[in-house]
Amino acid sequence: MSAILLRNLTKTYNGKRGVIDLNLKVERGEIFGFIGPNGAGKSTTIRLLLQLIAPTSGEIFVLGHRIHGDDPSLRRKIGYLPSEIRLYPDMSGHQVLSFAASVHGADLKKSRIHDYAERLQWNGKQKIKSYSLGNRKKLGILLSLIHNPELLILDEPTSGLDPLVQQQFFQILREWNELKGTTVFFSTHILTEVEKLCDHVAIIRDGRLRQVSTVSEISDISDHFIEVSCFPKDDGLQLRELYQMDPRAKYEDGVYRFRVQDKELCSVLAMLSRMPVKNLSVRRMSLEEKFMCEYASEANVPDRRALI
Ligand code: ADP
Repeated sequence: MSAILLRNLTKTYNGKRGVIDLNLKVERGEIFGFIGPNGAGKSTTIRLLLQLIAPTSGEIFVLGHRIHGDDPSLRRKIGYLPSEIRLYPDMSGHQVLSFAASVHGADLKKSRIHDYAERLQWNGKQKIKSYSLGNRKKLGILLSLIHNPELLILDEPTSGLDPLVQQQFFQILREWNELKGTTVFFSTHILTEVEKLCDHVAIIRDGRLRQVSTVSEISDISDHFIEVSCFPKDDGLQLRELYQMDPRAKYEDGVYRFRVQDKELCSVLAMLSRMPVKNLSVRRMSLEEKFMCEYASEANVPDRRALI
C-alpha cells in the first residue's frame, strides 16, 4: 500500500489550471521531494492531499484511503506544515505547543519535541505576534510532528531558516523517518534540498508532472558548460554549428557560452581544437543549473539571433 497515490488528478480554479492530470505514487517510508518553480502547482497538490480543496477530476489515495469528502480520522494521521503558518498572536510559543498537544492527546514530556525545539534553537517564550519568520517556521515544524503522524507533508519547510538550522532540521527529518518509518513528502523550489534528503523526486512545471525519478537518475544526465573566447570573426560556419547545439547559447564580451550534452562533448572539443582558441573552460553542470535550464520558463530562453 502506497502512502500517496494520485490518478489523473486535475484541479482548475474557475477554468484556469491549478494542476493537470497528475499521476504519482509515493511509497511508504520514503522521503519524497516535490520540486517546481513558483506557480507550478505544488501547494495545490498539497491542499488536495489534505482535503482542503476538492479535485475537479481524478482520484487521490492517502495511506490507502480514497479521499472523497472530509475524513478527519485520516487527517489525524497526517502532519502538515503549511508554507505560511497562522497562529494565535497573543499566545506564547510554549502555550501554542501545549494547546496543540492537549488537542491531540499527546504527552509533550514523553515525546522528543523538546529535544527538537532545542536543536532548532526555537524560542518558545515570546508571543507569536513578535515572532520572526524563522521562529514561526520552527514552531510549525514542531506542531507538524506533535501527534506522531504516519505521513508528514511539508510545504516549503526551509524558507526562513538559516543554513545551520536547516541542517539540523534535515537531520531531525532523517531521524524521524528512520525511527518511525514516517513518509515525508516535501515541496521546495530548491533542488539542493532534494539532493541532500530524498531518494525520489517529482518535478512539476505549469501544473504538469515533467519527471518522476530517483535523484541519482537526474544527476546522471550530465551536461557541460563550455566557455570559449577569441574566435576570429570570420569563423561563421563553425560558430553556427556551435550555436545550433544550444538555443540558450550566449555571446558576451568576446566569450561564447553554451551547453553540450555528454555525448556531444568529444566532437565539440575536436571542433574547438581546429579553431584558434584563446581561452577554454569546460565544466559539468550542477543539478541546480540543470534544473534552472530545463524548467525555467520558455520566455527566459534568449533569442538565438542574439548570438550572431
Ligand atoms: P506553487 O505552490 O507551485 O507555487 P500553486 O499551487 O500555488 O503553485 O499555484 C498553481 C496555479 O494555480 C497558479 O497558476 C496559481 O495562480 C493558481 N492558483 C493557486 N491557488 C489559487 C486560488 N485559490 N485561486 C485561483 N488560482 C489559484
